[in-house]
Amino acid sequence: MKICAISADKQFLKIGESFEDSRWYTVTDTVKETTGTLVRNDIVEVEADKKDDGKLYLTKIKKIGSAPVLPKSPGTSKYTCDKCGKALKDDTYSSCYACNQKEKNSPENLDREAIKQATIRRQAIGHMTSRALISLQGQIEVNNIASIAETLYKKFRSLVEDK
Ligand SMILES: [Zn+2]
Repeated sequence: MKICAISADKQFLKIGESFEDSRWYTVTDTVKETTGTLVRNDIVEVEADKKDDGKLYLTKIKKIGSAPVLPKSPGTSKYTCDKCGKALKDDTYSSCYACNQKEKNSPENLDREAIKQATIRRQAIGHMTSRALISLQGQIEVNNIASIAETLYKKFRSLVEDK
């Protein structure tokens, strides 16, 4: 089990497999010397008495190792890059500048960007076409609208896409 927390007065240790399922144990004189040297994340073997008051009293505790503490960047920053773990000065971005640049220039992202631009162009051409048709209202025959729309669309596209 793991030491998940130690009370400020060191009279109680919160021990368990994880913080959620850990319990507070009361330090007794028998183990006081050992518990004094323990720190959070130490892996321990414990024996405890459950007294009538429902509390657990440590009768034996032995350190058998220490759990790896999650790597934290040096310094005081509590914000880190999602991708490389580098410290960030605030939480404005979830990843650091280098990772952002890498992401921005990745093939996937460049493709996405190209598709987005093409969609925007198509929408613009569609708008031009419909505006032109509206302005031609009354001057063109209903039967010809489809072919006129097509002609306009092609014309606008050639203008926009410079082909
Ligand atoms: Zn990064």
